[in-house]
Amino acid sequence: MARIIIISNRLPVTVEKYKDKLAYRPSVGGLATGMSSLQKDYECLWVGWPGIDRDQLNSKERVSLVKELGKMGNYPVFLSQAHIEGYYNGFCNKTIWSLFHCFTQFTIYENHLWETYRQVNQIFCQTILDIIKPNDLIWVHDYHLMLLPLLLRKRMPDLNIGFFLHIPFPPSEIFRLLPWRRELLEGLIGADLIGFHTYDYVQNFLDSLLRICGYENSLSFINYQNRIVKVDSFPMGIDFDHFHNSSKQEEVKQEIKKIKNKIGKNKVIVSVDRLDYTKGILERLKAFSTFLEDNPEYWEKVIMIQVAVPSRIDIPQYQQLKQQVDEMVGYVNGRFGTIGWSPIWYLYRSIPFPELAALYYLGDIALVTPLKDGMNLVAKEYIATKNNGTGVLILSEMAGVANEMSEALIVNPNNRTQISWAIKYALNMSVQEQQRRVFSQQKRLRDYDVKRWADDFKNHLVKTIDEQQNLATRYLTPKNRLKIIKDYEQSIQRLFLINYDGTLVPFHLKFKDAAPSQKILQTISLLAQDPENKVVILSGRKKDILNKWFKNVKVDLIAEHGAWLKKNSSGWKTIVPLEKEWKGEIRPILEQYTNRTPGSFTQEKEYSLVWHYINVEPTFGRTRAMELMNSLLYLTSNLNLEANHGDKVIEIKSAGVNKGIAAYQWISEKKWDFIISIGDDWSDEYTFSQLPASAYSIKVGPGISQAKYNINSAAEVLTLLKELAKKL
Ligand code: UDP
Repeated sequence: MARIIIISNRLPVTVEKYKDKLAYRPSVGGLATGMSSLQKDYECLWVGWPGIDRDQLNSKERVSLVKELGKMGNYPVFLSQAHIEGYYNGFCNKTIWSLFHCFTQFTIYENHLWETYRQVNQIFCQTILDIIKPNDLIWVHDYHLMLLPLLLRKRMPDLNIGFFLHIPFPPSEIFRLLPWRRELLEGLIGADLIGFHTYDYVQNFLDSLLRICGYENSLSFINYQNRIVKVDSFPMGIDFDHFHNSSKQEEVKQEIKKIKNKIGKNKVIVSVDRLDYTKGILERLKAFSTFLEDNPEYWEKVIMIQVAVPSRIDIPQYQQLKQQVDEMVGYVNGRFGTIGWSPIWYLYRSIPFPELAALYYLGDIALVTPLKDGMNLVAKEYIATKNNGTGVLILSEMAGVANEMSEALIVNPNNRTQISWAIKYALNMSVQEQQRRVFSQQKRLRDYDVKRWADDFKNHLVKTIDEQQNLATRYLTPKNRLKIIKDYEQSIQRLFLINYDGTLVPFHLKFKDAAPSQKILQTISLLAQDPENKVVILSGRKKDILNKWFKNVKVDLIAEHGAWLKKNSSGWKTIVPLEKEWKGEIRPILEQYTNRTPGSFTQEKEYSLVWHYINVEPTFGRTRAMELMNSLLYLTSNLNLEANHGDKVIEIKSAGVNKGIAAYQWISEKKWDFIISIGDDWSDEYTFSQLPASAYSIKVGPGISQAKYNINSAAEVLTLLKELAKKL
């Protein structure tokens, strides 16, 4: 099994220097626990910053640090204080953190911070390249390293890379504010698998990718530069058993006893957060104040314990928040407190695990009301700790975890009245109802704990790589090219089935500007001159325009996706009598869509109607196209029509008319000893499906196809045809 390289901003070990000696302090966070399960089953190496300024280390210390960390399965990335300042304290926390949590008012856009972010991602890349082996599985974590997947991909194109974002991905309206939005998106899709906590974040990411880079996706697969990238949600879990069994630990028991004595008969509301503006602490304190204001019968009966862990204390917004929270706590305690009862117990510090577990255990209610949160593990930890099933979680709908915990009392963190009401409801909830909710939440938390999460992501990464191989476009190699040329030379009855738009000429954004160049006409003429060759040009276009473009060339023509055929210089014919009365019913629907969708237009062909949305804003166009396909569903089956959704077009025509059926008129004509069929979109798949096994079939561009080979562009098609023409 391949080795797994875990890459995150920080290593799970912090290195400090005391009196010229290096000290190693392991940290136990959710991620470290998740990764430890992988470390048990696979060979793993964790790469990250060890928390010490590289300028504090001489070369001997660096060597010893690498060696010591190596024993713990870690490998250091050396960063200077200036790097940390510009990258971590700067771009990560003053730009990405605030923007991705939709706090645009706190977001700064500074070129020098961006430059340092890029540099540090480069340093990570270089460090990894020094230690990587070709079959390693790479798992990059979080917003600090969003450029890393592409940097690695550029240096090692076949590397297997997964990326997981632990914070929200914002709606594209917010994300687009970032001056370096494109670079970040491109950086991410260097990965093979991109994971988010929730489906919403997946959708936001795909939406930004489409709007900003124009990359479409199909069922969350992105076809990017001939590589399939998968995007999916993996809600991170916790170490369920650790929390569930915590109240049996001696140290936790003692803490429970100690705190219980202090709280007496009071009901307890607990809140545990880093002191961060995203956590909604101030809004929550105000809501608690509203609750006390509205419900005096609970005075001296309820306390709220707010743990606020100091965080990013150098950033002005965090300092300001600290001051506001201090003031609010002071206000509420001053307003409602009595001798012997303070409604808010405020702890501005980090607390050790036994104290945390005891608070979870004793909390009758957990009030978890972030304004925006990628996941929020505190909510999960609280529920997991409740081993007798009593306790009520009041949860903000803005936390990623809200998607998984519908049994919680879900609130809007800005709605004080609603939170006040939820507190009252929770205080009066029967034990049976509490247990019903808690046990049902616990089942999911137990089933999908952090170990399962880590395993699931890793398995999906392996699966994605397998899928890539299955879906891999089989590019025409020089060897296969030579074989085509050789077979061509050795045959005497040859059929060419060549599609027009996107195959002979590049796919034109300006739909009308696509007449064949002189070069194309010369090459096709040359091929068609040979009496042993039969050249058929297939198109969705109208017959008149094909007539005009190919009037001096000895080719046969298929127009309107197979509705019309022109064989051996005779006139245009249809294979079956075609009807067009249905157009009267379909046309008004298309016109309605055209009117409601700026940039779209309807095209009328003799036997088909086409709705084009190539010039429509991509997301809007796609949504409208889906709606149109839906509205056409019943009508088309009643009228014996077919609606095909192609690349930025929907074409409606009689069922049973397609390029494949038309092409069969030539394929079945005689025993050809050389057939080559070239096309680029869905309509050409009909032709590919009619070909005998011996035929050569080529799809222009990447993607899944019935064709045997893919080729990059219309220009390459022309080069191949020229080579064949030269053999005459
Ligand atoms: N936590 C901690 N020390 C404390 C209080 C809490 O390490 O003093 C932990 C808590 O158990 C939880 C994490 O910090 O696992 C907070 O994670 P969450 O997803 O809720 O928020 P984040 O801080 O990651 O935004």
